[in-house]
Amino acid sequence: MIMKAIEQFLRDILWSELDVLVIDMPPGTGDAQLTLAQSVPVTAGIVVTTPQQVSLDDSKRSLDMFEKLHIPIAGVVENMSGFICPSCETESDIFGMGTSKEVAAAYKAELIAQIPIEPAIRIGGDTGKPVTFHNPDSETAKRYQTAASNLLAFIEKVNAEGGADNSAVQPTTPPGVSACSTK
Ligand SMILES: [Zn+2]
Repeated sequence: MIMKAIEQFLRDILWSELDVLVIDMPPGTGDAQLTLAQSVPVTAGIVVTTPQQVSLDDSKRSLDMFEKLHIPIAGVVENMSGFICPSCETESDIFGMGTSKEVAAAYKAELIAQIPIEPAIRIGGDTGKPVTFHNPDSETAKRYQTAASNLLAFIEKVNAEGGADNSAVQPTTPPGVSACSTK
């Protein structure tokens, strides 16, 4: 079902001319990641993590999967990276800040942005107005901009070097037939 859903999503929708198509995947590894990588060359993989160890471990699994699937690794975004107090704008380290830098480095990737906890993000989410739109001068908005600029620069670099290539990760069984099938 996951394979079918991804194939429909990619092929059966009349996509107009897109700058970038961002696909938010479930954490870790699985059929969704595999099917996506086999269906289209994915230009950049990006991992969003929180600074705690348990989340970093999940992120490593995702990064391992990117490597196996020949997806160029754009980097890591550290979410919940500190808390910005709305009263005094002091930034406090709650969950650990910057711990994902080491994980990114282990995969020769960048920590492309650290997004703090700021009530403005939640308010923006609840009202459907992204913080970058309704509060562009906030620290968080600036960091989202940083993440987007870094990601776009990476995509342009991959494309300039010939683009992503998924020819090495093609399925060994025809579409719709399970690799576990005994038939
Ligand atoms: Zn304060």
